[in-house]
Amino acid sequence: MADDCIFCKIARGEIPSNKVYEDDEFFAFRDINPVAPSHVLIIPRRHITHITDATPEDEGLLGRMLLMANETARREGLVQKGFRYVINCGEEAGQLVPHIHMHLIGGRELGWPPG
Ligand code: AMP
Repeated sequence: MADDCIFCKIARGEIPSNKVYEDDEFFAFRDINPVAPSHVLIIPRRHITHITDATPEDEGLLGRMLLMANETARREGLVQKGFRYVINCGEEAGQLVPHIHMHLIGGRELGWPPG
């Protein structure tokens, strides 16, 4: 937990969000600036800045985060047509918020390669 982290504050309910799921470990909410009809951010409550800061201790957490994301994709009705997970890491990838988050993006045809 980081006191000044916007996503930690969202997970603690100190900043309002459009929540789609929460449990002891994870919080999922709609992106404030969606790039597709369905755009959900999935975060661990544990503050990890970059995905590359994860340690072997986080192995289970990251596995459960993927499974939880799959459940979210199912609930969003995205599984049949397809969707995309994105984890931006660092400056050139455009990571704006220094707390790891998975983007779940779907509900339209998605181009490849990404920008
Ligand atoms: P990234 O560029 O991967 O760091 O993505 C950060 C994402 O967080 C962007 O898509 C933003 O639109 C989104 N975002 C930033 N602040 C908020 C907020 N308060 N509520 C919901 N989404 C946010």
